[in-house]
Amino acid sequence: MTKAEETSSKKVLVWFRKDLRLTDNPCLAKAVEHDLEIVPVFIWNPDLGGDWRIGEASRWWLQRTLENLSEDISGQGGTFIFERGRPEDLLPGLAHKYGCGNVYFSRSYDPSGREQEEQVKSRLHSEKLRYETFKTSLLVEPREALNKSGKPFQVFTPFWRSNRQCIFEEPQSYSSSNLHFTKNIRSALGLNDLGIMPKHSWHNKLDQHWDTSARGARKLLARLRGELTEKYSHRRNIPELDATSRLSPYLAWGNVSPREVCKAVLSSDNQSSSRGENKFLAEVGWREFSHHLLYHFPKTPNEPLRSKYASFPWRNDFKALNLWQKGQTGYPLVDAGMRQLWETGWMHNRVRMVVASFLVKHLLQPWLDGARWFWDTLVDADLASNTQGWQWTAGCGADAAPYFRIFNPFGQGEKFDSKGNYVRRWVPEIAKLPAKYVHQPWSAPSQVLEESSVTLGKTYPYPIVDHSEARHEALKALQALPKE
Ligand code: FAD
Repeated sequence: MTKAEETSSKKVLVWFRKDLRLTDNPCLAKAVEHDLEIVPVFIWNPDLGGDWRIGEASRWWLQRTLENLSEDISGQGGTFIFERGRPEDLLPGLAHKYGCGNVYFSRSYDPSGREQEEQVKSRLHSEKLRYETFKTSLLVEPREALNKSGKPFQVFTPFWRSNRQCIFEEPQSYSSSNLHFTKNIRSALGLNDLGIMPKHSWHNKLDQHWDTSARGARKLLARLRGELTEKYSHRRNIPELDATSRLSPYLAWGNVSPREVCKAVLSSDNQSSSRGENKFLAEVGWREFSHHLLYHFPKTPNEPLRSKYASFPWRNDFKALNLWQKGQTGYPLVDAGMRQLWETGWMHNRVRMVVASFLVKHLLQPWLDGARWFWDTLVDADLASNTQGWQWTAGCGADAAPYFRIFNPFGQGEKFDSKGNYVRRWVPEIAKLPAKYVHQPWSAPSQVLEESSVTLGKTYPYPIVDHSEARHEALKALQALPKE
């Protein structure tokens, strides 16, 4: 072995993807195990994803996360190397430049990430560079989790029954002091040269709502532990309460690993779990199931899994879509959710189901239009979970809501926001209405409207569709679909 070969075999280039953390990162654990010096690299490729290239809110999250990670790496004496372009073109050159004989990176499960990975592997191979890939973002490797007939699961319950033991997988433990980053190297580009931050100043307000650092994730985990009591199953459905974890963007970008999340919530003997914990862990299971579906059915971001829905007579009404996006439908719970999304880049799960159902079933707009809006505005935008969430609601996905399940937008409000506090927070123009009318302002007597400073059609819109008529139309269209 020449001196150069000897040095390069002691260094590894770690290409960070959606595993943007220093803890429980198998790429780093392997480097520690083999006592390798680490050159950490991030490559910004804004075109990755094609139709589903990174959305505006995710750009903000990514920028902030990279700032934090870069600081953490500097704190350990290293330098985060930033590049812009196609990883398959850049990685071999970077490995040579920094004298790394090995390249480690995490596996991706969405179609463009998988394609990119194949190209990277082939280029590294042709340059005679060693590489290794790792499972960093999931608990269950999708290609390994098949049902008894060797086929992918399409129903959540058997999927989770068969794979639930994965929640007990221990995070990899290595001390951060054992991470040896290569010293005295410079990145030709700084993070701000990459141009990740969206041009639109819409993102400015997101800083008020999120702390993307490792400390921010730890705080949320600690809060979650306090929530997982007997009351959790009820409280998690109440959008006014902060009773869900809000960990979705951290999981989407890998600021925290799913193993760390499970470990943090499991009872101390690490074997049993209470009802609250079980319920929460099943939500993490839905994330796993969504990735399983996307891996095995890679066309689903653009096509319904249940093909008969491809012929559904969607309406393509731009005006209706626009009113939904702006939170001006005249249905307070729907409007509150859409405004929470616009203001914070996040929406409560119960309300996501209600607004999605409203768009596809009341307004008969294509689920893909809703999925695209969420993609751009959610800080947790994730191709697997977003596709699954929209197809579930539209009835065209795996284990989907039955076609006749059409959420009643004011009934859901009365049930899950009975005092109207969630609506009052996000739709201030109707905040003075008494709880009895806050989900149905159109049913309030004119004197109540006047006393509450609400003028329907002026300060707050009339409902854009009549609930009963819209429900009837949707059922008619759904029943007319061909049998499967
Ligand atoms: P918690 O209830 O605390 O759950 C813990 C974690 O489990 C979440 O952080 C998330 O990673 C996962 N999870 C929870 N519910 C689901 C679910 N139904 N499907 C998949 N994973 C789940 N989630 C995303 O992460 N990204 C998306 O782009 C996304 N789009 C959605 C679109 C629609 C139409 C719907 C109905 C749901 C969507 N979800 C999406 C799922 C879910 O709404 C969010 O994961 C959840 O609201 C995030 O809040 P939380 O972290 O407090 O969740």
